[in-house]
Amino acid sequence: MSTFPTRLIEGYQTFMSGRYLAEKNRYRQLAETGQEPHTMVIACCDSRSAPETVFDCGPGEMFVVRNVANLVPPYQPDDNLHATSAALEFAVQSLKIRQIVVMGHGRCGGIKAALDPDATPLSPGDFIGHWVRLLKPAAQQIQDSQLLTSGERQIALERISIRNSIANLRTFPCVKILEERGKLQIHGAWFDISTGELWVMDTQSGDFYRPELPLA
Ligand SMILES: [Zn+2]
Repeated sequence: MSTFPTRLIEGYQTFMSGRYLAEKNRYRQLAETGQEPHTMVIACCDSRSAPETVFDCGPGEMFVVRNVANLVPPYQPDDNLHATSAALEFAVQSLKIRQIVVMGHGRCGGIKAALDPDATPLSPGDFIGHWVRLLKPAAQQIQDSQLLTSGERQIALERISIRNSIANLRTFPCVKILEERGKLQIHGAWFDISTGELWVMDTQSGDFYRPELPLA
């Protein structure tokens, strides 16, 4: 029999005596009234780019779905299993979330995999290979550009992928309708894990820039 990881038990103890204690009333209130998160974030599974940490959000604030390379597949109502689409449906239709952020990050392994389609699959299922094929058209065009270094290709696809996910978000009728009515806003963000820099997407041009920090 294996024991539950000690690191997690210790972390839980710290949480209970620290954050939970400080926010006990908030947790109780959230349990009674339910969650009303202000933002949905679609982020990567990468352990270095947790959105709640980067945006300093507490319990009940942020509805987060994470998958490899923060991808949103296009709207596809069929019998397949669509985890990200299910989370999106719940966020928009049930929680009435009106801000969605697609958050990418630097040195993303999923994006790296998309740029290396001939890599040996990690398992016979090649789930990552199939998943990042959502980016294949863009990845192919970037690969074809001999002007870019491998580092430039990586960052370019990390950012193009955010725009790609946003375009796919708009294929969902509920998202499209709410956005057209001005009731839903969609944003892009890219977090550089090595420097801590946050870049956000200009919703008109799709370019990324560093936002001004009001508290600085
Ligand atoms: Zn990643």
